[in-house]
Amino acid sequence: MVKAVEIDAPGGPEVMMLRDRDPGEPGPGQVRVANRAIGLNYIDTYHRNGLYPLPMPSGLGLEGAGVVEAVGEGADFEVGDRVAYCAASIGAYAQSLLLPAQRLVPIPDGVDFDTAAAVLLKGTTVEYLLQRLFSLRPGHTTLFHAAAGGVGLLFGQWAAALGVELIGTVSTPAKRDLALANGYKHCLISGEDDVVAAVREITEGRMLPVVYDGVGAATFEQSLDCLAPRGLMVSFGNASGSPPPFDLQELSVRGSLFITRPTMLSYVAAEQEMRDSAAAVFERVLDGTLQVNIAQRYPLVEVQRAHAELEARRTVGSSLLIP
Ligand code: NDP
Repeated sequence: MVKAVEIDAPGGPEVMMLRDRDPGEPGPGQVRVANRAIGLNYIDTYHRNGLYPLPMPSGLGLEGAGVVEAVGEGADFEVGDRVAYCAASIGAYAQSLLLPAQRLVPIPDGVDFDTAAAVLLKGTTVEYLLQRLFSLRPGHTTLFHAAAGGVGLLFGQWAAALGVELIGTVSTPAKRDLALANGYKHCLISGEDDVVAAVREITEGRMLPVVYDGVGAATFEQSLDCLAPRGLMVSFGNASGSPPPFDLQELSVRGSLFITRPTMLSYVAAEQEMRDSAAAVFERVLDGTLQVNIAQRYPLVEVQRAHAELEARRTVGSSLLIP
């Protein structure tokens, strides 16, 4: 038996229960992984509260790193291999779980379990956001909301290394200092600073070719206002709630804008995409471009507190659950 988090119905952090579960034996193409560290992601709160509906009852969690402890027929791994995964299946909040082998990536030497679990999902998100969805290059300026968060700090480090001028938004002066130390050249305090006016001043009126908005409802309109004609709005999350219904005519009025609502799941859907994206992330961890800031670690038994703090904006950088 192992400990695993389950929910019987969507709701607040209190619906998450730690239960004893038999993880089972791996079937063909599966392995069983004993987690050493579990990545906490904002998307887990959408699964928990029903914004992204799941069949009930359900496990939670998309990301972890650990050791292969049993191998099913045809799965190309050995007992003892160090592996990480994200977007393989839901249920990572567990001491041990079955996973499809083709969604696992080996953890390279020099990367520890905590780092792998803290960087894989957020890092592959940054990889597709700045390399494949839009190709950020030197000379580009962009805006990224929640700059001191898990995805935000990694985005700042990676984009700055590409020579991109970064404008972040955060909610507190302490978070602003952190963002400025992680690649952001400018950082505005949401609710205090006039973000659109600041973008206009920084870009000398040109505005931005692309805006990355993971905050959603609270920032959606403002993000559109920061775009140059023919700019791209990347609405990739809903930390403050889903953006309001949107009239496509707005894109025309504002100057032939583009808008996309991407999910990492479709950018690493193919096995090779997952491997290439993970390789790009681990390469940047090993060469020092990405310095993963694990600012919070919670024992798995404190999963309710972990979710509450993430949703109350009391975390920065990456958070881990330790099984
Ligand atoms: P973060 O660590 O960034 O935490 C969310 C942050 O959002 C908070 O710290 C807070 O920063 C900000 N925020 C603004 N308004 C609110 C609000 N009303 N309630 C709570 N938080 C608020 O989380 P992650 O790094 O895990 O994820 C960042 C975003 O990226 C999320 O929206 C997530 O869903 C999205 N995402 C999307 C993916 C995709 O492929 N589409 C993949 C991965 C993540 P502050 O206090 O500074 O404002």
